[in-house]
Amino acid sequence: MGFEHTDSATLSFPAVRPEEGEALSSWLARIARAHLLDIDHVADEIGCRVQSVDHAPTDQLIGRIAQRIGASTDVVLAASHPLITPTVVPGHGDFDWRVCSGCLTLDTEQGRALHVRRAWLHPLSTVCLEHHSALTIPTAEEWGQLTTDEVTPPRQDHGLRDLAREPLDSLLRAARLVEAGPPSSRETQVLAREVSDLVDALGVQINYALGRGAILTLFEEPRRGRHIRPLALDLPDGLLSVLDVADRLLFVRAALALRWPSEGYQQERAVLGDWFKRVMMATVPVGRRRVIGDHPTDPLCLLAVALPVQPFHRLCQRAGGWSEDLQRRWASAEQLAALAGLN
Ligand SMILES: [Zn+2]
Repeated sequence: MGFEHTDSATLSFPAVRPEEGEALSSWLARIARAHLLDIDHVADEIGCRVQSVDHAPTDQLIGRIAQRIGASTDVVLAASHPLITPTVVPGHGDFDWRVCSGCLTLDTEQGRALHVRRAWLHPLSTVCLEHHSALTIPTAEEWGQLTTDEVTPPRQDHGLRDLAREPLDSLLRAARLVEAGPPSSRETQVLAREVSDLVDALGVQINYALGRGAILTLFEEPRRGRHIRPLALDLPDGLLSVLDVADRLLFVRAALALRWPSEGYQQERAVLGDWFKRVMMATVPVGRRRVIGDHPTDPLCLLAVALPVQPFHRLCQRAGGWSEDLQRRWASAEQLAALAGLN
């Protein structure tokens, strides 16, 4: 008889209820605040780092959290995103949070606790479906209200607020596909693979004939005037899982823009048009430029031309797992790269 610590609901009083659609990590962080506990103490109680609970928690972990906070397993399970896999756990140990400032402002205005939505946590979710605005890293002020004092906010990237030069419809399309609730479809799985492969490619050092920097620089320079340092010389495998939260947003947005360009490449023509021509002028031998001149401005062509030989061929091998549409576009990008004489 007596007090059995391992079975007790040590985090149940004062009771903190989840907000609608709140992510499990966000809920636990608010429980820590309400109990004046630091995050590591809550981690000891539930047997898992609070930063990791959103990534495919086991039934055992769900059960233990439910027991500790005095809630039903169904309520705890509902706070975890069904499509987030263990393979996308960020390696840096930060909270994997991105937020919509508009939604957090509404929380304040409507008298709710500020909270991170479960739907925002999937790596392919980069925009808010309510406000059609970019998800960003919480500001210091938002961060202070979302978690406890001892947790350091991750790196900010203020450039991510600007969506004007990216195909918003593509970002919304991906966010809708992975919104928490519906079961994982084949389309979602294939998209996750394509984005992962494209992110790997975007991190590679550009063909030296074009300069220094990651391939992402080719898209980020015209969009936001930024140079991105290279993360690999050959095609990495699973870059997404080691990037910090801000870089994951940046790379995934660029990969989605590559995956689903705007209708008739209108936006890409406006944003990348001159740039595309300059890259072609730098890479394509004079005698072949006339052939290239009529080529549509598919941003995938820019990627194919700028990849060095070895990572280019590795990416070709991975293309077998892509959707038919992307495979077809890649095939013509491959042809263009061959014409350019680089790959
Ligand atoms: Zn919003």
